[in-house]
Amino acid sequence: MKNIVLFGPPGAGKGTQSAFLVEKFGFVHLSTGDIFRYNIKNQTELGTLAKSYMDQGQLVPDSVTIDMLKSEWSKYPDAVGFLFDGFPRTQAQAQALDEILAEAGQSIAAMIGLEVPEAELVARLLERGKTSGRPDDANPEVIGQRIAVYHKETAPVQGYYEAQGKYMALSGVGSVESITASLSEKIQAL
Ligand code: AMP
Repeated sequence: MKNIVLFGPPGAGKGTQSAFLVEKFGFVHLSTGDIFRYNIKNQTELGTLAKSYMDQGQLVPDSVTIDMLKSEWSKYPDAVGFLFDGFPRTQAQAQALDEILAEAGQSIAAMIGLEVPEAELVARLLERGKTSGRPDDANPEVIGQRIAVYHKETAPVQGYYEAQGKYMALSGVGSVESITASLSEKIQAL
């Protein structure tokens, strides 16, 4: 089983690339952002809680996010592999993920980081905000906050995987197809 973490700042293209990689490799796609949005849409208690953080560009607390991820993950005992998207976003989440997987005799094969210059990220998010229906994409202040949170809390997670020799970087600038091709090459080589 190949378990991959797709990493990168908001707007790097993780969601777009995930769709292609799922089709190509048959991964189960676990996007914590998507799961929170599903809960918001269905007006669950978890959705209400998550929304209060998401609307401000803040991270949902680790305990809530980790419990949710674990419960989603456990729904797919027969998965050929998982593609984690938007998780882990903190060191505590990275450690928790290792523990969850280790209990099942599994591990992360690699974290692949999509690298995109900051000005391009903001432009992409504002553009996406016109059609995505995501309030956190439409507001420049919230976008700035999400990028700041990324630098402070999420970027260090790269070091967690580097220390395990599992981090790989890839340019997230270029055509969607060329980035999918580069990602696929890296995944196939694992
Ligand atoms: P995303 O769809 O990955 O851009 O996530 C949208 C928002 O959901 C983030 O700005 C956070 O508020 C929240 N979120 C998603 N994933 C996580 C996570 N792993 N930890 C904490 N908050 C998260």
